[in-house]
Amino acid sequence: MTGPQVFRVALDMPLRRVFDYLPPKSPAPPTNAAASGAPSASTPAVSAPAIEPGARVRVPFGRQRLIGIVVEIASSSDLPAERLKPILEVLDSRPILDTPALGLLRWAADYYHHPIGEVISAALPKALRLGASSSSTEERWSATAQGREAHQRGEPKRAPKQRKLLEFLVARDAETAATLTGHVPNWRDAARSLIARGWIGSMEVSPETNDAPSGAQTSGPTLAEEQRSAVEAVGKALNQYGTFVLHGVTGSGKTEVYLQLVERVLTQGRRALVLVPEIGLTPQLVGRFRERFGVPMAVLHSALTDHERLLAWREAFSGRARVVLGTRSAVFAPVPDLGIIIVDEEHDSSFKQHEGGFRYSARDLAVVRAQRADVPVLLGSATPALETLNNVTTSRYARLTLPRRADQAAPPRMALVDLRANAIHAGISTPAIQAMERHLKEDGQVLVFLNRRGYAPTLLCTACGWVAPCSECDARLTVHMSAGRLRCHHCGADGPLPTRCPQCGFAVKPVGQGTERIEETLATLFPGVSLARLDRDVVRKRTDMEEVMRRMASGEARILVGTQMVTKGHDFPNVTLVVVLNADQGLFSTDFRAPERLAQTIVQVAGRAGRGTRPGEVLVQTEFPGHPLLLNLLSEGYDGFARAALEERAQAAWPPFSRLAAVRDSAPTAAAALEFLTEARKLAKAPRSVKLLGPVPAAMAKRAGRHHAQLLVESSDRTALHRFLEAWLPEVEQLHSARRVRWALDVDPIELF
Ligand SMILES: [Zn+2]
Ligand SMILES: [Zn+2]
Repeated sequence: MTGPQVFRVALDMPLRRVFDYLPPKSPAPPTNAAASGAPSASTPAVSAPAIEPGARVRVPFGRQRLIGIVVEIASSSDLPAERLKPILEVLDSRPILDTPALGLLRWAADYYHHPIGEVISAALPKALRLGASSSSTEERWSATAQGREAHQRGEPKRAPKQRKLLEFLVARDAETAATLTGHVPNWRDAARSLIARGWIGSMEVSPETNDAPSGAQTSGPTLAEEQRSAVEAVGKALNQYGTFVLHGVTGSGKTEVYLQLVERVLTQGRRALVLVPEIGLTPQLVGRFRERFGVPMAVLHSALTDHERLLAWREAFSGRARVVLGTRSAVFAPVPDLGIIIVDEEHDSSFKQHEGGFRYSARDLAVVRAQRADVPVLLGSATPALETLNNVTTSRYARLTLPRRADQAAPPRMALVDLRANAIHAGISTPAIQAMERHLKEDGQVLVFLNRRGYAPTLLCTACGWVAPCSECDARLTVHMSAGRLRCHHCGADGPLPTRCPQCGFAVKPVGQGTERIEETLATLFPGVSLARLDRDVVRKRTDMEEVMRRMASGEARILVGTQMVTKGHDFPNVTLVVVLNADQGLFSTDFRAPERLAQTIVQVAGRAGRGTRPGEVLVQTEFPGHPLLLNLLSEGYDGFARAALEERAQAAWPPFSRLAAVRDSAPTAAAALEFLTEARKLAKAPRSVKLLGPVPAAMAKRAGRHHAQLLVESSDRTALHRFLEAWLPEVEQLHSARRVRWALDVDPIELF
């Protein structure tokens, strides 16, 4: 049909299409007028404003009424006019997604081959998807003059609830809906008749906030020469797109560079978006931004309630927040007059969404967003991802280096300890024990790193060889001694810790080391020395973490045992020795990215050693002291490692020298998981340049009772890969076997299982 206007609406459902609707029948004003700033009565607008792309609308869909987003306005539809239905209601007069935001989401839907409705849904707080107002004004209820007179007459006489509500509003003017709910439950029913009689009314007002600019800005420290030239390089290019990699060793003052650049952007009257890894978003970092600028900020992370998320989103959307700081999904946060995007710890895997349907890289989307907004993006890390460094080599990104620590301390000395050639005491070698003694005697602190929590990874019967297995996963259960439990770290299964073998009745024993056991061993090796531990079992709340930090900072604790948690965003200024207990977990993995992750972990942990005048020492325990990766890392540092690792990737044609997409699925049986992928592969009409590898069961095939498998699609030609996926996926979706599995496409996967 052709006509004046057809609205293409994206709905939150797994369908690769949008739906056409006609304009609303009797143009109704938007229910959520945009914030006007000053208090104003919510009187209906005189004429309905135009519906713009990015606005929410309520539409009929089958027997349901759904909220969707207008993504496009067209002049015709492929469907005949009589089959199109009108929009029921327009929720926004000001679109909640502006043109650049909508553009980014459409780009993401194309690139990650995911339905646009679900992509948009992932970018918005849940409350907005359910119809909450986008403006940060709130309703305030009052009694009218007629209402006050009626109350004097003792009305309403026969409706106690209405009387109670009216009485309350006569006594207390301009009350919020929340207060009313507290005093008169289900007051909205009573309000309806009172409104109809003109006795009460509501206004939309801006909430009072005490987060106004405090004016308490502090000025930054004097920058080192490299920091200054980094700030200058990006500062010169503030009004145009450019991707800068800030490669700075731990302690080199990357955050100070971020702060100075944000300051320049704020001076221009623009705003900044700062992305950090989930675990790196510490109160200290937020505090540092707040203190420096004294401007309103919006902070978005996964621990917010739906309502807190809505409030933070509104702060960003209204432009009140001058700095938006958040984790992965904050890459979609609205930031009017965006001036810069900063991604801290850009190599961190938490920027990759690798669960659910829509799997994206927030780091990569940050680059795309910056490009589309024509602003610079800064990717900071002490250990940049190999694909990021490759983009430097090919001149797509510019590298800025901070090779020295801000305190001028010498880099730590790193050495390998051969686990086969030395006596080992419950996982700790004699040279490591001697080094600990030495550092403790010289008043230093010691950090012991082991990326495995719990007491022991295995419970074994030495008589019959039984090993405690998880019944739901292809994995062993981990012994948690102090809790007296056997737990699965993959599915969360949790049961009592047996003392006897269920097969032969012989006594069972824990084998191997976790952080809990290492803590116990260290307590016997160093009696009287106070210990602290940092892992997910002991740190359950923010305050637990702060307590560990306090004990280390005050010197009360002398040895810290921890997992990956110790490497993220924390400073331990008095640690002079770092011991990496087991470097071998990443050396022989089937995942081609495992060595990269291992090198990043070692460098990040090593970065905790030595500050100021105290040189640091790092000992890495390994059974493979001749492994080229470790030797390379020791002799040439992360840069040397990265060069060698990229060469290896180039020879094997792994990313970034090829492009990958993984179709992953899971099913109750291994056969069903493989069947779907096998049929999907049969459908593939791949050109010569696109290779399909698999399907194969995942390395840990059974997890949480389901069997996992994957099919890889690989090509050195990005365009060919995406063209193939675009044609293939709609057919794959139609497969009968697709209904028996859960599956998802992962473009640019960062983990291969
Ligand atoms: Zn046994
Ligand atoms: Zn399990």
